[in-house]
Amino acid sequence: MIRFENVSKKYPDGTKAVHSVNMDIKQGEFFVIIGPSGSGKTTLLKMINRLIPLTEGTIFINDKKISEYNIHELRWNIGYVLQQIALFPHMTIEENISIVPELKKWARKKTKENVMELLQMVGLDPDTYLQRKPMELSGGQQQRIGVIRALAADPKIVLMDEPFSALDPISREKLQDDIKEIQNSIKKTTVFVTHDMEEALKLADRICIMKNGEIVQIGTPQELIDNPANKFVESFVGTHQTGLQKGIKLEDVMDSIQEEILPPSPSHVISISTSFEDMLEHLTKKEKLIIEKDGTYVGTINRQMIIQYFANKLDGNQITGGK
Ligand code: ADP
Repeated sequence: MIRFENVSKKYPDGTKAVHSVNMDIKQGEFFVIIGPSGSGKTTLLKMINRLIPLTEGTIFINDKKISEYNIHELRWNIGYVLQQIALFPHMTIEENISIVPELKKWARKKTKENVMELLQMVGLDPDTYLQRKPMELSGGQQQRIGVIRALAADPKIVLMDEPFSALDPISREKLQDDIKEIQNSIKKTTVFVTHDMEEALKLADRICIMKNGEIVQIGTPQELIDNPANKFVESFVGTHQTGLQKGIKLEDVMDSIQEEILPPSPSHVISISTSFEDMLEHLTKKEKLIIEKDGTYVGTINRQMIIQYFANKLDGNQITGGK
């Protein structure tokens, strides 16, 4: 539905923010773009609704170039949620949410019905909140209004740029749950930028991992966990997945295996092809295991090494993990 063909962005000062991006976001998909600060996520997002002009390549929405859409038509049909929601302070909640439906000249009744339904979806009672002003709401409630304002005119596409990152953890989790529920009932094509892998894994149908303006890998959360394209993806995804249940092979831990050869004791020997889970199971009973490959003893592994292995992985994540 949203197709990027060789899209690049170079800012006037010469900064190359996005390089030759190719991707196809499907209809109804919840597509999460994630990457370290400065990797080009926001630039990529804002090129979709032409808030930022692209330098090279083409973006298509439903096979029509975005440059061929009337700019109002494009913006009104793409909901947009920012990190710091900018509700109009002098307008009521109802007026704030109704802005785009009114621009689109929807009938009053239809607008009102939609506004009420959306408020209920995010757990805000319309009778209580419709006539309030934004400052009479908490930060989390205001952000909820920001989300439903983006949905109010029934856009086909919704863009969200770190919409929850300014919220406290509880409001954040509540809004993530709301978004998931809304997405299940009204399937929108959503492009969601975050630097929080936990959020990405929770919400995404597919995740696009970016680094230095380029796509490193696109895949479902499970695909990224099972088959990370490289160490960068592995460390990024690994922050929230120890990989224990995902079939790490013993070879993956080979660095930690000592080169010494010990007198074999049959009950302590395992094959190099033993699954990681089974090896852990053995280690719950034995302090040390001997590893065998094609009939030759290739080393040993003990509990301490496994702890060290995961400690190293966690360390790596802190370097690349977030903003
Ligand atoms: P992210 O959203 O991943 O943090 P951005 O898309 O905001 O990344 O930025 C990508 C790169 O482009 C960064 O190096 C940033 O400094 C640069 N950049 C962003 N906006 C501008 C601008 N208006 N002018 C020049 N450089 C910019």
